[in-house]
Amino acid sequence: MNLEEYKGVFVFAQQVDNKLSGIAFELLGKAKDLAKDLNTDVAAVLLGSGVKDLADELAAYGADRVIVVDDPELKDYRTEPYTHALSSVINEFKPEIMLVGATAIGRDLGPRVSARVATGLTADCTQLDIGDFPLVAKEGQEQKHNQLLMTRPAFGGNTIATIACPNNRPQMATVRPGVMQKIERIEGAKANVVEYNPGFTPNNKYVEILDVVKAVTDTVDIMDAKILVSGGRGLGGPENFKILEDLAEALGGEVSCSRAVVDSGWKPKDLQVGQTGKTVRPQVYFAIGISGAIQHVAGMEESDLIIAINKDETAPIFDVADYGLVGDLNKVVPKLTEMIKAN
Ligand code: FAD
Repeated sequence: MNLEEYKGVFVFAQQVDNKLSGIAFELLGKAKDLAKDLNTDVAAVLLGSGVKDLADELAAYGADRVIVVDDPELKDYRTEPYTHALSSVINEFKPEIMLVGATAIGRDLGPRVSARVATGLTADCTQLDIGDFPLVAKEGQEQKHNQLLMTRPAFGGNTIATIACPNNRPQMATVRPGVMQKIERIEGAKANVVEYNPGFTPNNKYVEILDVVKAVTDTVDIMDAKILVSGGRGLGGPENFKILEDLAEALGGEVSCSRAVVDSGWKPKDLQVGQTGKTVRPQVYFAIGISGAIQHVAGMEESDLIIAINKDETAPIFDVADYGLVGDLNKVVPKLTEMIKAN
C-alpha cells in the first residue's frame, strides 16, 4: 500500500429521512482541524436517496468537497448497500482519514467498512489529534509523523488509550456523538460536489425493510439540553427525584442521572450520562448526589459550567466542578429552587 496516495479527511455525513444528523456537523468541525494540520481538504460522504440538496448544508459547516452516492438502494439505512457504497468511495477516492459517528448506524457501518477496505478502526473515540507515533520512540524504533492519534477510554474506562494506524490507510475512527464541536455556520459556502455511482448488484440486497416503527418518547434528548440537573445514588430513591425535577423546572432545564440510578431502575437508560450513557455538553451541569466516578465524568466534563452538590467533601466530583457545595442535597436543593423561583 502506497500511503502517499491517500489524501483528505473524509467524514461520513449521516442522514436519516434526508435530514442530516448532528454528528455529521460535529465530525466536520473536527475534520477541519485535522485537515489544517495535514494541509489537506475535508470531504463529506453523503449516501442516500434524493439527498443531493443537503450538500450546501455540509459546505456551510466545513466540507470542501461533498461526494454523493444517490441511489434508491440507499433510501433507508441497510448494512450491505451502505457498506458497499462507503467502501467503494474509499477505494475510489483514497482518503487519508475516514471518520464515522459512533451512532447506532455508525457502529454497524464503521467496522464492516474497515474490514472491507482492509484497514484498522478505533471505535468510540473521544479525542483525535495529529502527531507522532509512537509518541516517544525507543532506540532503533521508527517514529512516524503526522499520524492520526485516536484516543478512547479502555479497560472499562480505567485508562485512556491513544491508538494509531501507521501502516494502513485510511486511518479510521468512530467518534462519540456530543464530544466534537461543529464550526460556526458559514453562510453561502459552496462545496465541490462529486457524484459517484458504485453500482449495486443483487448481492447488495440481502435485507429488505418492510416497515419502520419510530420510538415514541415524551422526554427531551438530554444531549440537546442547555441546563442539566443530574442526580446520583445519593438521591436515595426514585421518589426523591421530585426535588431535582423542581429545580430543573425553575431553571428551564432537564433531569439526567448517573448509571447507578439507571441500574437501580429509578430512571430510564436514555437519561444516563457517562461512558456507557450519553456525552453531554450543556451550558450548566448540576451533579447532585453523584460521586464523580471516571466513567461518569467522561460524559460530562466538557460542560461549560459544572456545579456539584455532595455531602462528602472528598468526593471526586469536586475535582471537575467549577462550583462545589458540601451539604445534604435534601436540604440544599429545595432551598436553591426556592431562591431561584424568588428571583
Ligand atoms: P455513588 O458512587 O454511590 O455516589 C453517590 C454520591 O452521593 C456519593 O458521593 C455520596 O457522598 C453522595 N451522597 C449520598 N447521600 C447524599 C446526600 N444526602 N446529599 C448529598 N450527597 C449525598 N457511571 C455513570 O454514571 N455513567 C456511565 O456511563 C458509566 N459507565 C460505566 C462503565 C463501566 C465499564 C463501569 C465499570 C462503570 C460505569 N459507571 C458509569 C459506573 C461508575 O463507575 C459509578 O459506579 C457510578 O457513576 C456511581 O454513580 P453515583 O455517583 O450516582 O453513585
